[in-house]
Amino acid sequence: MATNCLFCKINSGEIPGKFIYEDEDLIAFADINPQAPHHYLLVPRRHIPTTLDLTADDAALIGRIYLAAGKIARQLGFAEAGFRVVNNCNEAAGQTVWHIHFHLLAGRNLTWPPG
Ligand code: 5GP
Ligand code: ZN
Repeated sequence: MATNCLFCKINSGEIPGKFIYEDEDLIAFADINPQAPHHYLLVPRRHIPTTLDLTADDAALIGRIYLAAGKIARQLGFAEAGFRVVNNCNEAAGQTVWHIHFHLLAGRNLTWPPG
């Protein structure tokens, strides 16, 4: 756990959060500032700052993020309509929380290219 990391604090319960999904390695909860009718953050429990900090040992962890995204999409009923999984890495991509996370967005027609 990293001190002063928002998502580490949500994971530990120091900051309360309602998990829509959790397992041994991951948590998922609603984004506080939703950009779509469904907007969740999939977050590894372990503190990893950015995509660039991943190692080969994390390959299965990132695979499980996508499996969890599909599971949530089916459970919440937007799998067939479509959804997007997005990871922002570093400032130019819009990363603002320095604990790796994947946005799961759905519930409207998502434009491409993204802004
Ligand atoms: P990033 O910009 O780093 O890709 O995504 C960070 C996300 O975290 C943003 O979409 C932002 O709305 C969300 N966020 C920031 N603070 C909180 C919080 O305290 N609780 C929750 N649930 N989401 C947060
Ligand atoms: Zn953290």
